[in-house]
Amino acid sequence: MKSFDALGLSGQLVEAIRQMGFENPTPIQEQAIPILLQGKTDLVGLAQTGTGKTAAFGLPLLDLIDEGNRTTQALILAPTRELSVQITTDLENFSKGMKDLNIVTVYGGASISEQIKKVKRGAQIIVATPGRLIDLIERRVVNLGTVQYVVLDEADEMLNMGFKDDIDEILSGTPDEKNVWLFSATMPREVREISKNYMTNPQELTVGERNQGNENIEHQFVLVDDRDKYLALKRLVDYTTDIFGVIFCRTKIDTQKVAEHLIKDGYNADALHGDLTQAQRDRVMKSFKNKTLQLLVATDVAARGIDVSNITHVIHMNLPDEIEYYTHRSGRTARAGKKGISMAIVSKRDMGKISQIEKTLKRRFTKISVPTGDEVCQKKIMALTQKMRNVEVNEEEIDSFLPEVYHELRDLSKEDIIKRFASIEFNRFLEYYRDARDLNKGGSERKQSFIDEGGAENYTTGDRIFINLGKMDGLEKGDLLGLICDYGEIDKGKIGRIDLKGAYSFFELEKDVTSKVLKGFEGLEVRGRKVRLEMTGERREKRDDEGGGRHKRFGGGERDGRSGSRDRNRDRDRDRAGRGGRERKRW
Ligand code: AMP
Repeated sequence: MKSFDALGLSGQLVEAIRQMGFENPTPIQEQAIPILLQGKTDLVGLAQTGTGKTAAFGLPLLDLIDEGNRTTQALILAPTRELSVQITTDLENFSKGMKDLNIVTVYGGASISEQIKKVKRGAQIIVATPGRLIDLIERRVVNLGTVQYVVLDEADEMLNMGFKDDIDEILSGTPDEKNVWLFSATMPREVREISKNYMTNPQELTVGERNQGNENIEHQFVLVDDRDKYLALKRLVDYTTDIFGVIFCRTKIDTQKVAEHLIKDGYNADALHGDLTQAQRDRVMKSFKNKTLQLLVATDVAARGIDVSNITHVIHMNLPDEIEYYTHRSGRTARAGKKGISMAIVSKRDMGKISQIEKTLKRRFTKISVPTGDEVCQKKIMALTQKMRNVEVNEEEIDSFLPEVYHELRDLSKEDIIKRFASIEFNRFLEYYRDARDLNKGGSERKQSFIDEGGAENYTTGDRIFINLGKMDGLEKGDLLGLICDYGEIDKGKIGRIDLKGAYSFFELEKDVTSKVLKGFEGLEVRGRKVRLEMTGERREKRDDEGGGRHKRFGGGERDGRSGSRDRNRDRDRDRAGRGGRERKRW
């Protein structure tokens, strides 16, 4: 293995990373840095998250930038605000000695005027989400003409989120002789196309086997009834001493629900999803990063790219439909050479997905049992005992307080004292787990899960509603479902079949919520167009063959409100709020 000194980086960068505690380059850094330092090559880096990609492109980029020249020389595009901020923080840490360097982060959902001011001061490097960058280009704040390097980080995810058009627009506006460095955890056809269209003989690097997860991640699953998923989650959390984890749910509603239940049940948890304000997201991320928050419940999009060290567990309340999402989720743990567990809480019908993931990642899942109530109690009391044994005693200061304590406990035996101390915390668990049943049933035919309570399963008869939005507006079923839930302020269980057409769509509603939803959409405008809802007069009866499993059709899909070019429009809508009509919240 080479040392950082041997890669050709300048002395000040080597010193900066040494101070950050990086001793040796990671494989992607060892391979990419010497190539990129030449400054005249395109590169495709196929690397999992957590492999040190940021430094692999960041360090050579910093050496190639002309600090004395205030023009924008490099663009780094990333899928989410969190990842953009993280990249900037890393670059700032690497470049502590470069006093004239100005790195600016721009992303949607925050004040554009502040970002404009910062860019106008002269930013040699701009780290951006694609939608907001396009806005700044259109406002002539960012000049692409001087750009020499474009980095596409987590390219697969940017495309997943619908940023394809924006990326095309940005890349085609940059000079022909620029260098494009593309990093991606997976290499779907769309990513290949970008490399074909915008890169010349790119060097290709692969770290780890293709599509293979990080070796330090242990993949596990527990098999339970759908309705027991939340109970299983609690048991796993209770059983695991010092757990520090991310719990993934598929939708914002599920995420919020799980977080709220955990908080109510006394856990140190919070939610992270696209419906939160930027300030709320920042607060949650800050407390998770500094570890005052123990359990982060998140959607795929919101938690994308999060780099928090020492995450012990990634827990999947449901498995994502796309395997790539599984890779991204589990990549939140086992970062920088550490070990971690990716744990799926599944029911029988998810078993197909488990084997699909196994095949693609070439990794085996270990089936583990949800601990019984007794096992949790045993584990808890031992953890408590060890904590008591290892506690640091401040001999000097405690001494003066002890006589009174001894006096108070004078009639108790050693055994009694131990019992009582242990019980202080333990009683809560004992109470909760008394008579707790075994959750390892291996799936049942029950279709209603904790999360889906009140879900489409309960949907029976309803009205058919016309809406003048459809595929042509970039709408997908999940988006429409989200809009109806948001504006109608109803649960998704009240919504039946959704028929998405070109310029319009139909959806079904339980009769008792129809007028509420129609009212909720009143006055809503999308891109200057009034949104119109109408009852079609058709009624729909529940068919006998529509038993379980239907909720999947309605419930699935990430709706994080930050999808691709639509994010851009949303940002614009927000920036221009007040021009009549109601502001569009998302999609
Ligand atoms: P990344 O894949 O860039 O998100 O990096 C994952 C984590 O590894 C981050 O926390 C980095 O700070 C850390 N890291 C990157 N390179 C090294 C290195 N050479 N030695 C130790 N840690 C590193």
